[in-house]
Amino acid sequence: MNEKFEELTKRMMHFNSNYDVAFSYVHNLGGTQAIIDQPDKDKVCRFCGKQYPEVKFKKKAHAISEMLGNKEFVLKSECDTCNSFFGRKLEDDFGKYLGLGRTLSQIFGKDGVPSYKSRDGKCRIDYTDKGLVIQATEDNESIIMRKDHIIFHAVRDSYTPIAVYKSLVKMALSLIPYEQIPHFEDTIDWLKEESHLNSIHNMDNYTYLIERYVPGPHPMQLRVFGFIRKDESILVPYYQFLLEFTNYSFQIMVPCKKKDTKLVGGHEIEFVSIPGTDEIAEFIPIPGTYKKVNVSFGEASNKIKNMRGKEKVKDEPLEPIYLGFLDSQLNEGNGETIDEVFEKEGIALKKRLRNNDSLSKE
Ligand SMILES: [Zn+2]
Repeated sequence: MNEKFEELTKRMMHFNSNYDVAFSYVHNLGGTQAIIDQPDKDKVCRFCGKQYPEVKFKKKAHAISEMLGNKEFVLKSECDTCNSFFGRKLEDDFGKYLGLGRTLSQIFGKDGVPSYKSRDGKCRIDYTDKGLVIQATEDNESIIMRKDHIIFHAVRDSYTPIAVYKSLVKMALSLIPYEQIPHFEDTIDWLKEESHLNSIHNMDNYTYLIERYVPGPHPMQLRVFGFIRKDESILVPYYQFLLEFTNYSFQIMVPCKKKDTKLVGGHEIEFVSIPGTDEIAEFIPIPGTYKKVNVSFGEASNKIKNMRGKEKVKDEPLEPIYLGFLDSQLNEGNGETIDEVFEKEGIALKKRLRNNDSLSKE
């Protein structure tokens, strides 16, 4: 335990001595909307620099993706054109990357908690007012039931790694104070490229992601932090961004070529090498805000991933997800149809597994 505590303290020290906290926002359900920008900057888009009325500002732009449950943090300095570009080009990939996780962690997006359907059609999961409803055929390979938990094995929908990374960069640049934006000209230009493949920017030194999974029921609130390097002499990336929500956290180094001239880099996972020296600047996980609870749902895990891939990744198996529960009812083989069981339990759900159609009453 002490060793772990020491390690955590060391990481905390690293951030305290090298970085200032540029922002820290916590999403409180039902709270008032926080407007991130300065009022006098409202009518200039931070991403394309265009001004009203050349571009319109009619749509509600979210500083943190709405699919993560953000209802509060709205960005005024994002024009409708940039807003729909980012939505179409980047957010979709991020949603696919999270996939089953959004359903199991019960993240309320724009249209509620998304349902999940396994690709072989043998399992579906829906969120209802009674909780999660899991329908699966006996021969399904996605679910293993245990006494007090379920293990899910799923395959991710096809996604492009660089688009997932870019969608995090987009959030990081939405949240950073407006005055910082000029340092990120190249980064914004890169975000707005139509093609990931034919890019004039090479951001491969930055495209790492520290992904943390914290098991248990809602261990984290939706929360974001921005860390800006204290001064030029320190050899760490200029801007690091941390996003936490439900069971997940994502940490990235945000590309900033103007400020990171000394940090151009290697391709070693976990490290960014510093040219002309033997030094390496580590990409260190920021200690998370989740608290240890009495009930153990397993340990939090940190994983470092390289997200520079520009081609679609297909059929990537997800890490098994463990879902603990206090109470479950197994309804099988008692002669009742799914409709009858649902009616008895007061579950209003019309969606069925296709394979089970024959079991329903008609
Ligand atoms: Zn714009």
